[in-house]
Amino acid sequence: MGKASRDKRDIYYRKAKEEGWRARSAFKLLQIDEEFNIFQGVKHVVDLCAAPGSWSQVLSRKIYLPAKLSPEQRDEDLPLIVAIDLQPMAPIEGVIQVQGDITNARTAEVVIKHFDGCKADLVVCDGAPDVTGLHDMDEFVQSQLILAGLTIVSHILRVGGKFIAKIFRGKDTSLLYCQLKLFFSVVTFAKPKSSRNSSIEAFAVCENYSPPEGFNPEDLHRLLEKVGSPTGVDDLGFVFGGDGHVDQGSDMALDKIVEGAHGLLCNLPFSFSGPNGTGEMGFDCSSGWLEGPNKVYIPFLACGDLSGFDSDRSYPLPKVADGTYQSLDPVQPPIAPPYKRALEMKKASSHGVSELEKLSLDS
Ligand code: SAM
Repeated sequence: MGKASRDKRDIYYRKAKEEGWRARSAFKLLQIDEEFNIFQGVKHVVDLCAAPGSWSQVLSRKIYLPAKLSPEQRDEDLPLIVAIDLQPMAPIEGVIQVQGDITNARTAEVVIKHFDGCKADLVVCDGAPDVTGLHDMDEFVQSQLILAGLTIVSHILRVGGKFIAKIFRGKDTSLLYCQLKLFFSVVTFAKPKSSRNSSIEAFAVCENYSPPEGFNPEDLHRLLEKVGSPTGVDDLGFVFGGDGHVDQGSDMALDKIVEGAHGLLCNLPFSFSGPNGTGEMGFDCSSGWLEGPNKVYIPFLACGDLSGFDSDRSYPLPKVADGTYQSLDPVQPPIAPPYKRALEMKKASSHGVSELEKLSLDS
């Protein structure tokens, strides 16, 4: 698809270039903010899976720059924004970058170090694996990114803080909702207007971080597995003890945590604390994870100005004086995209250099 043709078919792609955003994703975060006011009172933020950086730009423009321009602002008290991605990204004012894998414990340690003992008010995660088209596989890999995000959250988010994470809607959506509900008193799944209807993407907006009493971040994965078991009790046997070692004391503590967490598995069914009438999209209870009277109702909300641009529609292109249309270049092309190597290989083979020869030239 040519640039002009994409400009016509994807209004948010065009608007991103016009407004100086590196990616159309910026609008998703802005529309989530319109609905949930996520930036209010926020000074310390972690942006997980941040490249090419449009969410970091939003954070910089909404949180860092207004503080920096304020006459009362002291330099040592400026907002802190830490962005992490596998890919490097071009600098953004007020954003500290860490290049690394969020599923790796060492990356989490680097992020925590930047916070130097203070806590984050907000963690956002727009992570997406390279989509294979195999739905279950994509959903699984996506859920691993969310769990990695949750691990970082459990170490760094202050009580009362917020977590926004991209999810892929699928058969495990209800389970994911319940897992997030363990840690946040309010969890809503949101679909910003700039996210195409044809895409299975949505965003978990988790408010009021309140981990269960006695929660130890080291127990996160065992706790989530436990919630994943339909009864919420130890029907996996002691398998999730890992090495066969049974720590009865800590499993009992874990049971207490599971039972106590925000009424989960105790006060079902959840009442539906739904949207304000507009934009309600219905429920997803299709997983069968909790059926019948124990069904979990998931608040699911469309957000963004509902009379605004529709990401699934084409819009006419604005013409300049001579009647032509000038397509803008992307604001910031990725500096080291993963497809760069593939393009180099393609180019080399079209010049008659075999991949083997190329590799030996490289080394
Ligand atoms: N929010 C970004 C923006 O507004 O520009 C777009 C994020 S893009 C949809 C998804 C990003 O997830 C990619 O840049 C990819 O490199 C990153 N990603 C995927 N898996 C990752 C991982 N394990 N650790 C860190 N980043 C990861």
